[in-house]
Amino acid sequence: MEMFIQVQEERKRRKAEGQRANFGKNITCFSCRVKCPICGKNYMRNSRSKNSDGIKAHIWTCGTRLTGGSKACPGKTINEIALKRVSAKVLGLDEFDSNAFDEQIKKVIVIGDDLLEFHFNDGKIISEKWEYNARKEYWTEEKRRERGEKLKKSWRMKNDKKSNNDTSITK
Ligand SMILES: [Zn+2]
Repeated sequence: MEMFIQVQEERKRRKAEGQRANFGKNITCFSCRVKCPICGKNYMRNSRSKNSDGIKAHIWTCGTRLTGGSKACPGKTINEIALKRVSAKVLGLDEFDSNAFDEQIKKVIVIGDDLLEFHFNDGKIISEKWEYNARKEYWTEEKRRERGEKLKKSWRMKNDKKSNNDTSITK
């Protein structure tokens, strides 16, 4: 009986620990590793209410710029979706995985307007260009799961039609 209770307690403890570990993981895995090459500060996450396309998005900004404005540091701001997409790419993954990022990436330096320099724990360095198309990425990353089967079907039908049309054109 005592043994049983111990197992239950252990399960409870692990569950709580797991939840704590998962909570904010997406936030912490970037916040201590994305660096500004101009002032050397860590990047910080901030939520933009809505951008010009009416799309809600998290962005990462140099800590100096976030508190002091672009005059304090001109470090480039990067969208979280783009950051995750490029991170997944350099890690060789189809989808972003915060555990893989934590394990392998030492730091990411945001260079210029469109370049990210990934420093791996094993000493490897990969530079990767990033670009962010709000509308396109919003639909692929955020909305994909929310769209119902109905929408997917109509999309597929439209595309089938389109490819049929394309074939007729090329013939
Ligand atoms: Zn900076």
